[in-house]
Amino acid sequence: MKAPYDFLIIGSGLFGAVIAREMTDLGKKCLVLEKRHHIGGNLFCENIEGINVHKYGPHIFHTNDKQIWDYVNRYCTFNNFIYSPMANYKGELYNLPFNMNTFYQLWKTQTPKAAEDHIKSQISMINNLGKPKNLADQALKMVGVDIYNKLIKGYTEKQWGRDAVDLPPSIIKRLPVRFSFDNNYFNDKYQGIPVGGYNVLISGLLKGIEVRTNVDFISSRACLSELGTKLIYTGKLDEYFSYRYGCLEYRSLRFEHEYRDIPNYQGVAVVNFTEREVPFTRIIEHKHFEFGKQPGTVITREFPEEWQQGMEAFYPINDVVNTIKFKKYRALAECEENVFFGGRLAEYKYYDMHQVIASALKRARLMNC
Ligand code: FAD
Repeated sequence: MKAPYDFLIIGSGLFGAVIAREMTDLGKKCLVLEKRHHIGGNLFCENIEGINVHKYGPHIFHTNDKQIWDYVNRYCTFNNFIYSPMANYKGELYNLPFNMNTFYQLWKTQTPKAAEDHIKSQISMINNLGKPKNLADQALKMVGVDIYNKLIKGYTEKQWGRDAVDLPPSIIKRLPVRFSFDNNYFNDKYQGIPVGGYNVLISGLLKGIEVRTNVDFISSRACLSELGTKLIYTGKLDEYFSYRYGCLEYRSLRFEHEYRDIPNYQGVAVVNFTEREVPFTRIIEHKHFEFGKQPGTVITREFPEEWQQGMEAFYPINDVVNTIKFKKYRALAECEENVFFGGRLAEYKYYDMHQVIASALKRARLMNC
């Protein structure tokens, strides 16, 4: 008997939503199943007192790819938000990414030459300039002691829950240092936040497509699988295979949201707290993403956490042990018939939004061949 849907899509995050849109536009009948109570995956925004709160961490859309930019602009309008976070180190404020403003705040240097000389002299004072053995060596070699101690060390240690000397140098392959007064975090040509929040983008993508929320595919897999001829799965890869080779590990995050009855808490969307003693890594003030004029404000403190089974999986730990495990799961995935795996959880990969869209569009093209 023919299944009622051509495609059963597990997950209504960006990957699931883009592929559902593409296959629907190609005349295929799609059903999206989502285990959370809302659509959008980690892009979901909750409206609190008129403010779109990024519930799973701050999301800034950026891309260099005009096709991807044109694609998302079909479904929502983007504002002209530019991500320019601040850093707070023991009450001192610094601009990010590291640029002439930061150098002036650190050393009062006023010209690119003076800042460059300052950094070079700090690097030259480091004794061991051989092959970096850990993240601390690597960072010191790239930016010198002041930037490392004040702006990198504590933040990175909190993020990964380990001392910088116990972290691999590969975590910071590059540290962008800019010798211009430019606080724009991203180098990409296109950047912004959807007007009305990310739910507008996701709803636009899923317009006219049947979505069922609060449905966990894994717990009722046998009967749900019957619904579609082909399955697109964007959940966790190890979970799909019942953790046969053990869990793929992640770093998790905890968010504490707080409403404040004041119009402006910190004057910017994101402040990173770079000393280790402050337990959270950043405070997000959501209204600034959309230049909100509401009387109150919502702030979120972001706490990195050890991940355990059952917690939200945020950042994959792409170390040797997990990579070996992932490859075994991927080999199983390749043997599945009429099942396609995609997105950050199924590919066990950190993806920015523009990358996940590109990947979903590519998958859709391949499936149409
Ligand atoms: P998800 O959004 O995780 O969607 C997967 C969906 O599948 C979820 O809704 C989940 O509930 C559902 N699902 C899983 N298992 C099942 C099941 N068994 N049954 C039913 N449904 C299931 N990218 C940027 O470009 N800019 C940023 O500024 C940015 N900031 C980020 C900040 C943080 C803290 C994090 C963690 C990521 C950030 N990203 C950012 C990356 C961005 O979040 C991802 O690119 C995007 O969410 C990936 O979409 P996805 O569809 O692959 O995954």
